Amino acid sequence: MQRKLMFVMALLMLSIYGFGQGFDEVEIKTSKLTEHIYLLEGAGGNVGIYAAKDGIVMIDNQFAQLSDKLKSAISNISDQQIKYLINTHWHGDHTGGNENFNTEHTTIVAHENVKKRLSTDQFTKAFNRSTPAKPMIYWPEITYDKNLKLHFENEDVRIIHVDHAHTDGDSFVFFPSENVLHMGDCFFNQRFPYIDLSAGGSIKGIIKAANTALMIADDDTTIIPGHGVVASKSDLMEYRDVLVMMLNQVEDAMRKGMSLNDLKVAGFDKGYESWGSGFIKTDAFINTIWTDLDRVEE
Ligand SMILES: [Zn+2]
Repeated sequence: MQRKLMFVMALLMLSIYGFGQGFDEVEIKTSKLTEHIYLLEGAGGNVGIYAAKDGIVMIDNQFAQLSDKLKSAISNISDQQIKYLINTHWHGDHTGGNENFNTEHTTIVAHENVKKRLSTDQFTKAFNRSTPAKPMIYWPEITYDKNLKLHFENEDVRIIHVDHAHTDGDSFVFFPSENVLHMGDCFFNQRFPYIDLSAGGSIKGIIKAANTALMIADDDTTIIPGHGVVASKSDLMEYRDVLVMMLNQVEDAMRKGMSLNDLKVAGFDKGYESWGSGFIKTDAFINTIWTDLDRVEE
């Protein structure tokens, strides 16, 4: 019964957000995290706002249908223009509003592979879903390969690429003076993450990305995950440890010659059952790790 209910709920979520209905009810919640940084929550990935006296940096923008609500929430924070809009990666729940925010005042910034994926047709095997190429107005106007800095009077915003993690075009955004780190979808706080294998994501890469973030963060850093509540370094440490534990279990099972089904029956998430209650269920997460490792060994 439980499974059936979850399935119905998943379908409902898909029909609400997948087909563009239901956004009317979404309200944008604004939380002040530090002196100049705000979190905006609506539907889709967590949006970060850096509001300085010399301009605004926006990180991700959820779905196109929410652009007007996001703009009005931002205008309540600051009367400055959005100078830069950073896409942490190409997924539609983070870049859906790109065309609405892409004005003469705003420059869209992302990793090179975000432009590559937004400008060409994509196919996501895990969902059997095609995503057609977007018109040019959606594309990042400045792209980078390894690292990039955006300079403001009181902040040097650091954009850091982590390779083959959630996708092949993930960016972290770090504000050293505010001590805030936005990790995009490399971090699902207290949830198993979605890893987009079709777009260059990998389990080992996402663990490596978590380790990179742990080197950037200190005990006082405020960490914004792509999805889930705002976190501390110790939350991120737990997330990294859970991912390593899950990877070890799959590798162990493979070494012992167990099948994927054997592993699912044996149980996999002891103590972390609630982590499989979000978008990515435990079974789906095991499938992802298994598929990823199988592919590496081919
Ligand atoms: Zn994503």
